[in-house]
Amino acid sequence: MLELTDHRLRQREYLLQISRAITAQLDLTSVLNLVIEVAVEMLAGTSGLIALYEEDGSEELRIYASAGLRREVWPAFGPLLALSPREAAREALIHVMRTIAADTGLALRQMIALPLTFHDTPVGVIYVFRAALNVAFSADDEQVLQAFANQAAIAVSNARLYQGAVREKQRLNAIIEQSADGVMILDSRWRITSFNKAMEQLTGWAREEAVGRPCAEVLGVRNSQGVNLCLVDCPLQRRPHVTNPVIEGWMTNRDGRELYIQSRYAPQRSPNGAFLGAIANVRDITEQKREEELQNTFISIISHELKTPVSIIKGYAETLRREDANWSQETLRDGFQVIEEEADRLANQIQDLLDVSRFLAGGLHLDMTDWPLPALARQVVQGFAAQTDERFEFELRLPEDFPPVHGDYERIRMVLTNLVSNAVKYSPDGGTIRIGAKAEDELAIIYVADKGIGIPPEEQQRIFQRFYRVDNRLRRETQGTGIGLYLTRSIVEAHGGRIWVESQVGRGSRFLFTLPLARRQITADVAPINALDHPGTPGG
Ligand code: ADP
Repeated sequence: MLELTDHRLRQREYLLQISRAITAQLDLTSVLNLVIEVAVEMLAGTSGLIALYEEDGSEELRIYASAGLRREVWPAFGPLLALSPREAAREALIHVMRTIAADTGLALRQMIALPLTFHDTPVGVIYVFRAALNVAFSADDEQVLQAFANQAAIAVSNARLYQGAVREKQRLNAIIEQSADGVMILDSRWRITSFNKAMEQLTGWAREEAVGRPCAEVLGVRNSQGVNLCLVDCPLQRRPHVTNPVIEGWMTNRDGRELYIQSRYAPQRSPNGAFLGAIANVRDITEQKREEELQNTFISIISHELKTPVSIIKGYAETLRREDANWSQETLRDGFQVIEEEADRLANQIQDLLDVSRFLAGGLHLDMTDWPLPALARQVVQGFAAQTDERFEFELRLPEDFPPVHGDYERIRMVLTNLVSNAVKYSPDGGTIRIGAKAEDELAIIYVADKGIGIPPEEQQRIFQRFYRVDNRLRRETQGTGIGLYLTRSIVEAHGGRIWVESQVGRGSRFLFTLPLARRQITADVAPINALDHPGTPGG
């Protein structure tokens, strides 16, 4: 009696130990090793095995743990594993065991095998063997083993759930990591717990630095007034009822680049609404933003620029047709002249706009022919010489025998006209405007130089962008849309050429562009007829 009680106590003790092991560690093999060792001991066995069905749902059993049996003998148990202890007759199992014993010389004389099931699903089988022939397993032994079988089944199911969760997490991490969008995960205190590669590239923050920091510090999205929206208007804190809150604004990344970003959150909340964390999807939408701003600039410029000539025309027309006035011939002529000039200006601007939209649609047709450059330059210069006052002097540095160029005559005339028109517009004190060219290899390099206000170095690239105008006093005084140079560059590039500027503030600018020379000229010996002045001496 005492012995039995002692036995029960030990059994309880062991089961407790095992359930502690199950909760303490999720490593399946070590829990199974413990289960089989204790089960063998409790049943006074000599050896034992735990075999499990694979997770893929196959019917095959594979040994995971053993007690009193070396790993090398595991394969010998194959025929036993092939029989299900549920379906096969006990005698059949015993027979197979004896064959294994005979083949391997292992002391296997008695056996008890119990299925491991978890929620009615077969998980595996636990086997305990005895070496003694005369001591058979009793119903009591079966009950004891059942308790261990249950524990083993729980351990297997826990470990598999855990492994599944780990795998799922790894899969999710891989998806997040490879996402082209920036992805970060925030905890309940808005601190970053996960930060993917795209986030690193976007923000310039290394993952190790970003993780653990408040999201507002790393993103720091600002509105156009420079207010940190993450601090004052965090959508996760301010708008808890919104399912997918978004924040948009400027941020300076660690390389000093200004980015316009959009961060979209998927918050997780407890059933009572407490914030548990969020996944943030961050995208760089600087390009779209700039495009949008360009559109706005475009509309304001168009409305302003087109309205000016229209109101001048309307003003003059109204004045001239007043019936109470008796205008002199001269006044009438001057008035009509203004109307004509403004109408021309309007037509030119509309033409420019049409060209821009054609360029953007990618459909500018070039009518390529060979023609002499000096004639074109002369035509343009004569046009301007007639319009400008004596403050300006035009100089043509182009020999009559300059090799013919290959291009669209009308478009190149537009290019030269734009450049000379800018030279005049941005030279408030007048001065010499020089047009020249030299032939180099297969190219003509053509330039227009002035002694005007010049362009600061940081603006020299930007002036070729659509609608870009340098912000200075003259900008406010001169009319312009900022499309002239954009169109000019587009035309030059459509010819396979390049355009750039050399300039010094207060001294002047020189715009240079290349055009292909007519093909048949390439073989001829074309010496540079007129070397360009030293770069950086604008207007020289
Ligand atoms: P717009 O003259 O209509 O403003 P452009 O595209 O022709 O537009 O020129 C863009 C800007 O480049 C101008 O606003 C001006 O600030 C600058 N720019 C162009 N040409 C010159 C020049 N010759 N000298 C100084 N600044 C110039």
